Amino acid sequence: MAAPLIIGNWKMNGVSADLAEASALVALLKQISHRARIALCPPATLIERMARLLAGTEVMVGAGDAHAEPSGAFTGDVSAEMLADAGAQLVIVGHSERRATHRETDAMVGAKAVAVLRAGLEPIICIGETFAQREAGRALDVVRGQIATSVPAQLKDADEMSARVAIAYEPVWAIGTGLLPTIAQIEEAHGVIRKALVNRLGEGGRQVNILYGGSVTPENAADILHAADVGGALVGRASLKASDFMRIIEAA
Ligand code: PEP
Repeated sequence: MAAPLIIGNWKMNGVSADLAEASALVALLKQISHRARIALCPPATLIERMARLLAGTEVMVGAGDAHAEPSGAFTGDVSAEMLADAGAQLVIVGHSERRATHRETDAMVGAKAVAVLRAGLEPIICIGETFAQREAGRALDVVRGQIATSVPAQLKDADEMSARVAIAYEPVWAIGTGLLPTIAQIEEAHGVIRKALVNRLGEGGRQVNILYGGSVTPENAADILHAADVGGALVGRASLKASDFMRIIEAA
């Protein structure tokens, strides 16, 4: 079994002073035993400084998005190669906030995942249904469709799939809302995602970590992280404070 992957998504939060939370996390992790791979994804402006700060520690640094092209006339965007140059090791792609506010499609998310792999980094591909899609009984079909278009087929030959790509199942209605699916709903979705990954990637699909994301807290983390086929968590709000994030890591 791959180690659980616990990722903190800082979104558009954090300035220089908040790097202290990353240092505090490293110090807190020394006081506990855990089995997770850990990453923090700060805004792009902090990636290089955080990567320097965390060099040689167990906490990796990632990014919240990358452009699909390596360089060019894309004012304000950042490529995966640039993120690698800044010290990032993984990149979240297809977060529902970007799908909503930047109109990113599954095909665009797939192209970004390819770009992240091209740069030698690990894509964390976000999928998940809206509340309306769940109400209409379409949640599982939606995630199947998202896997089919946004997970790069080129991964078929990867030997160490668990360190090459991860999926984050994030029901859109659970992100930042305090609403949670039941454990049975999480297990059902993760089971469907696992089958879809094996269909798409062959046996390597069994190695891929499937993270749950959406209102994970220190209080609910243990139940979620020990559910069937949950290989970690993508954590927003509760990753901003080192002491909360540490408790989630400890629960894995
Ligand atoms: C997220 O941003 O991916 C997320 C899951 O946020 P929160 O934990 O705040 O719901």
